[in-house]
Amino acid sequence: MKIFREPQKLQKWAKAQRLAGKKIALVPTMGFLHEGHLSLIAAAKKRGADEIVVSVFVNPVQFGPNEDYEKYPRDEKADLAKCKAAGATAVFFPTPANMYLDRHSVYINEEDLSKGLCGARRPGHFRGVCTVVAKLFNLAHPDFAVFGQKDYQQAQVIKRMVRDLNFDLKIYVAPIVREPSGLARSSRNSYLTAEEKGRALALSQALKSVSAGKSASQERKRIEKLLTGAGLVVDYVEFVDGETLEPVAKTAKGVCVLLAVYDGATRLIDNRVL
Ligand code: AMP
Repeated sequence: MKIFREPQKLQKWAKAQRLAGKKIALVPTMGFLHEGHLSLIAAAKKRGADEIVVSVFVNPVQFGPNEDYEKYPRDEKADLAKCKAAGATAVFFPTPANMYLDRHSVYINEEDLSKGLCGARRPGHFRGVCTVVAKLFNLAHPDFAVFGQKDYQQAQVIKRMVRDLNFDLKIYVAPIVREPSGLARSSRNSYLTAEEKGRALALSQALKSVSAGKSASQERKRIEKLLTGAGLVVDYVEFVDGETLEPVAKTAKGVCVLLAVYDGATRLIDNRVL
């Protein structure tokens, strides 16, 4: 497995692989890898990639000033071992300084799908995500990239960026990997105390309890009550069209239910497409 730290070195290698007719997959992550990330590597393999590039980069530009950039968990050694075991062929570990050169001044703004949900609560978040993902596309030259449904809005925003900016690659979205308890796997779960982890089960339970043919506003109230009753602080409970992310009045097939809560100091998200 190759390890790249410098953007130019990855780019040069990726270009050579493409010229040699290799199919490159990119799996962008912020590291502290878990089963959810590894499922994306497995999906890349299944889709026939010859080279699977996993990027591990805690991207400062997508964090707000009061968010957890500094304390975000990092474990390079464990991530390398997990990538290797999962079948990645290259890992990219850039530093903020070599991803964002002095006076970096170009950013990408998606202006439709990023407006609501996490985009409304985390100003600048998707600008940071789009910018770093576009850079990774230019560095790894992937034929396709794999994202997780765990970050539903992110996957939709990236698909729109690819479409609107004519990136010559495909985006695949892999299902949410959960712990046996139902809790969606996340690097941020490492922040949770045992008690907080217990409370977090209400997220997947709430999602499971939603059925089609109901009033979205009534369902929202019911779920807010359920989450609050479990000791969580609701950031949002939204019912949106799975493609446009526009709010819907009724639950139905194709509707996406998205939840964001604070469990103690930790912000957790989860979702389900009906
Ligand atoms: P992150 O490292 O949290 O930025 O996530 C990197 C990629 O892994 C994103 O595409 C996420 O959606 C995906 N991912 C994170 N957690 C999960 C999960 N539990 N199941 C599936 N994909 C996930």
